[in-house]
Amino acid sequence: MGKPTGFKEYQRETIPYRDPMLRLNDYAEIYTAPVDEHLHTQGARCMDCGVPFCQSSTGCPVDNLIPEWNDLVYRGRWRDALDRLHKTNNFPEFTGRVCPAPCEGSCVLGLTEPPVTIKNIENTIIDRGFAENWVKAKPPVNETGQSVAIIGSGPAGLAAAQQLRRLGHKITVYERADRIGGLLMYGIPNMKLEKRVIDRRVQQLRSEGVEFRTNTHIGKAECFPAGHVNTIMQNANHKTHYIDPNDLISQFNAVLWATGATQPRDLPIAGRDLNGIHFAMEFLTKNTKSLLDSKHTDGLYISAKDKNVIVIGGGDTGTDCIGTSLRHGCKSLVNFELLPEPPVERAADNPWPQWPKVFRVDYGHQEATQRDGKDPRQYCILSKEFISDGNGNLAGIKTVNVAWKKDDSGRFQMTEIEGSEKEWKADLITLSMGFLGPEQTALEMMNLDRDGRSNIQANYGEFSTSVEGVFAAGDCRRGQSLVVWAINEGRGAAEAIHQYLKKQR
Ligand SMILES: Cc1cc2nc3c(=O)[nH]c(=O)nc-3n(C[C@H](O)[C@H](O)[C@H](O)COP(=O)(O)OP(=O)(O)OC[C@H]3O[C@@H](n4cnc5c(N)ncnc54)[C@H](O)[C@@H]3O)c2cc1C
Ligand code: SF4
Repeated sequence: MGKPTGFKEYQRETIPYRDPMLRLNDYAEIYTAPVDEHLHTQGARCMDCGVPFCQSSTGCPVDNLIPEWNDLVYRGRWRDALDRLHKTNNFPEFTGRVCPAPCEGSCVLGLTEPPVTIKNIENTIIDRGFAENWVKAKPPVNETGQSVAIIGSGPAGLAAAQQLRRLGHKITVYERADRIGGLLMYGIPNMKLEKRVIDRRVQQLRSEGVEFRTNTHIGKAECFPAGHVNTIMQNANHKTHYIDPNDLISQFNAVLWATGATQPRDLPIAGRDLNGIHFAMEFLTKNTKSLLDSKHTDGLYISAKDKNVIVIGGGDTGTDCIGTSLRHGCKSLVNFELLPEPPVERAADNPWPQWPKVFRVDYGHQEATQRDGKDPRQYCILSKEFISDGNGNLAGIKTVNVAWKKDDSGRFQMTEIEGSEKEWKADLITLSMGFLGPEQTALEMMNLDRDGRSNIQANYGEFSTSVEGVFAAGDCRRGQSLVVWAINEGRGAAEAIHQYLKKQR
């Protein structure tokens, strides 16, 4: 613990985002550059608790050694801090930017004071590491002669690839999109995670010997719907190659599924087939692809310019649709939430060190409030029917307000409030209501057992599936989650695969 009285002397101060009205003019990252002195004092706030809940329990899913690197940052030992950080996290530049920071929710200082700015410190350590050229490729010294196929290049697949390659296995990562990164690339928008940050890390993996095969779908050619990533790629003239998953079993010593939970939840109410209603992932994927391919000059994206936009559903996906629509220059913006507005403070049934379920203002809400003078979120709204303009196009949506009350068993039940029906004008609606699990066709081809939520059946910690030599990690195993959990699972699956391969020698 660098400064025993630090938490008494210094207030929590996060690194500010850029001015909302300025950042709305571009897709560059929202963050400002950190100042050394700022991090020094923020690191000094860490109390180096006897039991650091931040790095265990309900805190950091990759068990980052938080008090250790807080102390090193306070002392200005940045390179040592970087080494400590990389011991537990392959990609701190991803989590340092996009993680919701459960660590901060369980920081002991948070019991009485605002918690330590752990996420800011993590991000600064790794950005400095890259700036100083301290982050180097670490190819294996010895080759095992064994090989692993990884399906999916999101954070779970990438973490597993790096861990397994460094242990000397030959790694091939198959990705059906044209770029590597999974939802880091085509879900989370550029302003939250610039794509050069992903490319830089992918280059490191390549230098370590990981082989990437893009535009390669493991499964079979099917009739993919309009918003599906394969259709988006093909409309942009990328040829997709198809490989039967069973061929991978015969060609590799082990196979890892890391394909994410990509089946979006639909809203099958009247008028769903009208033009102008899109899944959030179609909206976001096309936007990022067009931005990266041509700075939007190819026109191959869904524009919100001058449109009345409604985003149905909250969470990170909803916020990203808000931020993207604002950058396009939408005319108006509303965000429907089915649930009530969360409390400002923790509720009695949500005590520390649990993740605090409280009202938050994310970057998109901040931008909308600044531009339009009000927060775009409307709570307790149930969508009833999409309204047509008479020519097959979306003109609006009918809604009703709902009330939430606990029933006798203590479960919340929703009831519609009579007389609260309302019509909203809309030219573009994005659906961001969560995901239902992984796509099933390829899993069926391999005869993989699924759990009750359609995820691949594989126990946490073991990661082995019902098929010998086949493993699963990340959102396709646990359901839609977080980047930090995907990294945790990729690392865990890599260890399980390594142990399996050792027994095969
Ligand atoms: C819009 C959005 C914003 C988000 N924002 C955040 C955030 O701010 N912070 C956070 O922590 N989490 C966020 N998340 C969640 C987070 O991105 C995911 O939990 C995480 O990326 C899951 O990682 P994964 O590796 O399991 O799968 P994914 O990242 O989904 O990667 C799976 C990859 O597999 C590929 N694939 C699928 N099937 C096949 C196949 N048959 N053959 C070949 N390739 C295939 C896909 O194309 C994809 O690239 C967000 C999610 C979304 C949708
Ligand atoms: S990865 Fe997330 S939970 Fe872990 S230290 Fe970083 S911000 Fe906190």
